[in-house]
Amino acid sequence: MYELNQKIKELVPYEPISGTYNIRLDANECPDNLPDNILEQFHQKLDEIAFNRYPNPLALRLVQSFARYYGVKPELVTAGNGSDELIFLIESAFLEKGDKMLVVSPDFSMYQFYSSICEVECETFFKNESLDIDVDALIETINANDIKLVLFSNPCNPTGKGITREQAQRLVSSVSALVILDEAYMDFWTESLLDKIEDYSNLIILRTASKLVGSAALRLGFAVANPVISRAIKAVKSPYNVNSISQAFGEVIYQNREYLQNRQKTIVRNKETLYNGLVDIAKSQTDMTVYSSVANFVFVKTPRAKEIWEYLKTKSIVVRLMGGCLRITAGTADEVGETLAALKEFF
Ligand SMILES: *Cc1c(COP(=O)(O)O)cnc(C)c1O
Repeated sequence: MYELNQKIKELVPYEPISGTYNIRLDANECPDNLPDNILEQFHQKLDEIAFNRYPNPLALRLVQSFARYYGVKPELVTAGNGSDELIFLIESAFLEKGDKMLVVSPDFSMYQFYSSICEVECETFFKNESLDIDVDALIETINANDIKLVLFSNPCNPTGKGITREQAQRLVSSVSALVILDEAYMDFWTESLLDKIEDYSNLIILRTASKLVGSAALRLGFAVANPVISRAIKAVKSPYNVNSISQAFGEVIYQNREYLQNRQKTIVRNKETLYNGLVDIAKSQTDMTVYSSVANFVFVKTPRAKEIWEYLKTKSIVVRLMGGCLRITAGTADEVGETLAALKEFF
């Protein structure tokens, strides 16, 4: 009789929150669907697709559009079926059996999850009390433990905090490990290292269209790295990893600079409202911490997290519960208003 091996035996498929809620603030998605004028451009592109043919293996036009938007060279960009695919791919291809990788905590849980599937050793570096990374200590840990790959989100999901460009540069230039900066939320901040990508032999930056761009449904992620690393990523990925529909959409969306910039401003404004409202609420609580955020969500620590989460659900509002913390996505202005009102009611 066939038996599943140890590493997958106990695994269960990923399950997002089920049920329908009027206000979804649990997955850091963009709160609005795409506007009609962009959908129209997309529909036109759809008409050009040869559905009987395999997609372009290097997603050339998509990658050009992305590269132009961010001001990087297209040959340094690899498109993926969401950045999740690229994370798995990079961990599995850039590490060999016996190699060690390092994650930080708290951070996006998928990094460590994939490491167990890849059968590589994964060590954890803990953030300090204020949930910041002590960069010098991180550098020391990487070098002292022969770490081959270090991977973390910047800005961080779930804390909403980030390290500056200067700190990131110091890190990358002080270690020989491969550094992967997951900049999924860097569209909401200004400390990207994208323009420095060619200065380093050991840097990969990940980007996604699932957050600011608002197309989580289409699964579009990107890895940006120097020519040597880029070539390796392209060589190990499955040939047709990004389907033609997603490629067509991505090509269109990154040509709409003004739209994306306006959306960015709105989301950041809503995040500020959410943050300020939460800080106000926290003033009357002795044990509630609201962390400042450079992303599109706010992280809150409170012993009543579970209770609050349950209460919000009764109001048809869903946020993310993470142990004794809540991660609340900045929705639309109305959604933020309703959520803050519900929280005030709760307290
Ligand atoms: C949402 C998110 C992503 C995006 O993943 P996709 O697969 O591109 O949707 C990547 N990294 C982090 C830290 C995220 O929070």
